Amino acid sequence: MYDFVIIGGGIIGMSTAMQLIEVYPDARIALLEKEAGPACHQTGHNSGVIHAGVYYTPGSLKAQFCLAGNRATKAFCDQHGIAYDNCGKLLVATSEQEMARMQALWERTAANGLERTWLSAAELREREPNITGLGGIFVPSSGIVSYREVAAAMAQRFLAKGGEVIYGAEVSALKEHASGVVIHTRQGQEYEAATLIGCSGLMADRLVSMLGIDPGFIICPFRGEYFRLAPEHNQIVNHLIYPIPDPAMPFLGVHLTRMIDGSVTVGPNAVLAFKREGYRKGDFSLSDTLEMLGSPGIRRVLQRNLRSGLGEMKNSLCKSGYLRLVQKYCPSLTLKDLHPWPAGVRAQAVSPDGKLIDDFLFVTTPRTLHTCNAPSPAATSAIPIGAHIVSKVQTLLASQHNPGRSLQAACSVETVHAAFTR
Ligand SMILES: Cc1cc2nc3c(=O)[nH]c(=O)nc-3n(C[C@H](O)[C@H](O)[C@H](O)COP(=O)(O)OP(=O)(O)OC[C@H]3O[C@@H](n4cnc5c(N)ncnc54)[C@H](O)[C@@H]3O)c2cc1C
Repeated sequence: MYDFVIIGGGIIGMSTAMQLIEVYPDARIALLEKEAGPACHQTGHNSGVIHAGVYYTPGSLKAQFCLAGNRATKAFCDQHGIAYDNCGKLLVATSEQEMARMQALWERTAANGLERTWLSAAELREREPNITGLGGIFVPSSGIVSYREVAAAMAQRFLAKGGEVIYGAEVSALKEHASGVVIHTRQGQEYEAATLIGCSGLMADRLVSMLGIDPGFIICPFRGEYFRLAPEHNQIVNHLIYPIPDPAMPFLGVHLTRMIDGSVTVGPNAVLAFKREGYRKGDFSLSDTLEMLGSPGIRRVLQRNLRSGLGEMKNSLCKSGYLRLVQKYCPSLTLKDLHPWPAGVRAQAVSPDGKLIDDFLFVTTPRTLHTCNAPSPAATSAIPIGAHIVSKVQTLLASQHNPGRSLQAACSVETVHAAFTR
């Protein structure tokens, strides 16, 4: 019997494991991951940006975690010899409408306490000769890193303190009882934990359903497709270049990202994926698709965003459409500059009334705690999120010896800032 079992070896699971064992050094703790190594899904397929906290509602948990996570990630990298680059970020406005939105972001960055500089069109050109715009905001604290490396270093630290990481263990059934949870894997193993912590990203709702309860949300997968620029363009930009996001849209828009290996990527877009872990355009799962179409929440999302969704699909299928998105601010790029690069798939929690849940979402039962929505910038924020999960586990342990409550009555769903708050 383990004291704790964590499910999911992405950055949230690894950060939680690393910090849980610090708080409970004598506990028996295991992390189960279905893949052969850490960070095989969202954590290993992202832009690698250490976000500064530009977009988030001042005072929200998302803003606080991002600001703290930016510092904590860099300190963790310093401590473990992981390369990162404090290259800074430029938000570029290319129309009068975007200039107005940029003004709102300028105020938001002030409220979030970020150091930043307002750039005129000429100042923008001076900093970035290949970028065109009416103006921009420079944010120096944004950086880049490989989150795959960060997650692997967290795993090493957990192992060094006596934790167990079991790869190739796909959890397929859960049975919660009065003193713990029995865990079955597809590979035929059985484990038991006094407390279970779910950090399973794209599968978060399915883990909750395995307990026989309604999760109250569904994960909708959105593929983020990238291109990589030809190597001769590795010096095309000095910073990360972001468009000014449309506040009505949940994602940040196609950006030019300097990667930690020296290359530059373009992306990601946001295309509805017909398979939860479907990284290629043609990937399709009948059961995943039927589950999505059967969900009233996802149907509402599709109805409300039909135009923009079809636009994303069109640009996904037609490279020149995709190119136009980046040519708005980097006009010298041409079709032959865009080379294939692996996509990522975002786990986006959707509520039954069709809201894309923007902030963190936790589901708790007497013996389990599940992180059910950890959207971008959760890689940046992984260290404070892990600390938050550990403090929630401490609260859960304090309330565990209360046999009078039924499982369903003791379940709680907590959405921190449930409304769309970016
Ligand atoms: C395209 C894209 C770009 C992004 N860019 C950025 C960025 O630049 N900066 C940033 O801060 N954030 C970014 N993000 C967000 C960030 O990557 C995620 O928020 C973060 O990685 C979430 O981590 P996680 O551990 O929750 O999920 P994951 O990394 O997906 O990990 C979940 C793990 O659970 C495992 N699992 C699932 N089901 C089971 C099961 N039944 N049994 C055992 N194991 C299971 C999976 O195999 C997986 O390893 C981006 C995300 C995407 C997709």
